[in-house]
Amino acid sequence: MTNKLRVGIVGAGIQGVCNALFLQKKGFQVTLFDRDEPGNSASYGNAGHFSPYASIPINRPDVLTDVPAMLLSSRGPLALKWRYVPKMIPWFLKFISNCRKDRMLYTAKYMHQILDISLPAFDELFEDVDISGLVENKGILYFWNDQNLKSRDLEIKIREELGVKQQLVSPKEIHDLEPNIKPVYHGGVYYDYARHARNPKKILIKLFENFVQKGGKFLKLNIKDLNFDEKKPVIRSDTHRFVFDKLVIACGAFSKTLTDKLHEDIPLDTERGYHIHFKNFDHLIKRPIIYLNRGFGMTPMEQGLRVVGTVEFGGLKNPLSKSRIKNLIENAKELLDGLPDHEDEWLGFRPTLPDFLPVIGPSKNYDNVFYSFGHHHLGWTLGAISGKIISKMISNEKTNLDLKPYSSLRFS
Ligand SMILES: Cc1cc2nc3c(=O)[nH]c(=O)nc-3n(C[C@H](O)[C@H](O)[C@H](O)COP(=O)(O)OP(=O)(O)OC[C@H]3O[C@@H](n4cnc5c(N)ncnc54)[C@H](O)[C@@H]3O)c2cc1C
Repeated sequence: MTNKLRVGIVGAGIQGVCNALFLQKKGFQVTLFDRDEPGNSASYGNAGHFSPYASIPINRPDVLTDVPAMLLSSRGPLALKWRYVPKMIPWFLKFISNCRKDRMLYTAKYMHQILDISLPAFDELFEDVDISGLVENKGILYFWNDQNLKSRDLEIKIREELGVKQQLVSPKEIHDLEPNIKPVYHGGVYYDYARHARNPKKILIKLFENFVQKGGKFLKLNIKDLNFDEKKPVIRSDTHRFVFDKLVIACGAFSKTLTDKLHEDIPLDTERGYHIHFKNFDHLIKRPIIYLNRGFGMTPMEQGLRVVGTVEFGGLKNPLSKSRIKNLIENAKELLDGLPDHEDEWLGFRPTLPDFLPVIGPSKNYDNVFYSFGHHHLGWTLGAISGKIISKMISNEKTNLDLKPYSSLRFS
């Protein structure tokens, strides 16, 4: 099937690449732009979880009372770059207004709607690439100690109500699944159908190469401007100008620079996250584990044992915080004996809206421009399904999904 319409996509992270492949399947002529090589941003350094169960957002009613203790603890998940705080006040106010129970349940319902179909969407893309050895089907294990049990109870109950498959596990069962983890835990939940990436960047590159093999174009350019020529979107780098029939903005946490040019104010900011590797120590665990009280996790990957975590509010320009790296090292060493010195200190930017729903759909003022960003902690898992949804929207095909909750109109 060929389609004369030309689509430009800005951003070659997991969102941009998956959008490109699904649009290509529908016959569109697609050009992908990135200022860097594909997949070097958040999509490179994440924890690699394909987590279709993770519907419950951070905006729980009880999260605000936990914040002071989280900020005071050097082992806790939360940190701030204090000079950035004034800039984030409007975002925080919107976040707080989303910490009501009804808002939390709304987000959970609409995250569940797309998470629940996220794996089959990836399978459609994986049919065309060789991912052997790169995606494991060993489930994902969460555990906790006996603090904050109220939050755990609430999460379990909401997942039950949504119909999310979950297996509660006892300390003995946790030990049987992961015998090397020290018994800091009192309970946990195991999602045996979840998957993980052994190397997210390699998977992304395989998908990207498939796009190029099928005739897709990639241009390494920094897109600095966006306007219109007789309703057709026009993008510009310092040296080039391109006109498309349709345009997709998929720049992750950096998307606001372009959406601000479209006369709408989308409150996108970033939750900064970190990783380190313990090279050659991935054999210590069989599957990703997450220690919920500490808000961090470990994933066995090709690069070694990847330790991932932290939510740091500090914008896109501040440097990496050494204290957050220390937090990851200490947390990992509390769970596993015999870890060597770490390598590869990495900072990445989760693209996050204050209601913890992504933006998937047309722009408010220009129906030839589409958005696919803001997937916060779940942008890896939601890559394929977001691309599939956008490809249907651009082809004017109906879906049986309620897509209004993801529209940027909610911020008007
Ligand atoms: C520590 C950490 C752990 C995570 N763990 C998981 C996990 O286990 N599972 C999960 O589902 N999600 C996880 N996430 C979230 C996930 O990684 C992100 O939501 C997802 O990668 C975002 O993908 P993206 O394509 O939207 O953005 P990105 O991967 O950031 O890609 C955006 C691209 O746009 C390009 N770009 C930006 N501006 C321009 C411009 N003006 N011109 C040209 N190019 C531009 C950038 O160079 C970049 O390549 C994690 C995130 C972090 C930080």
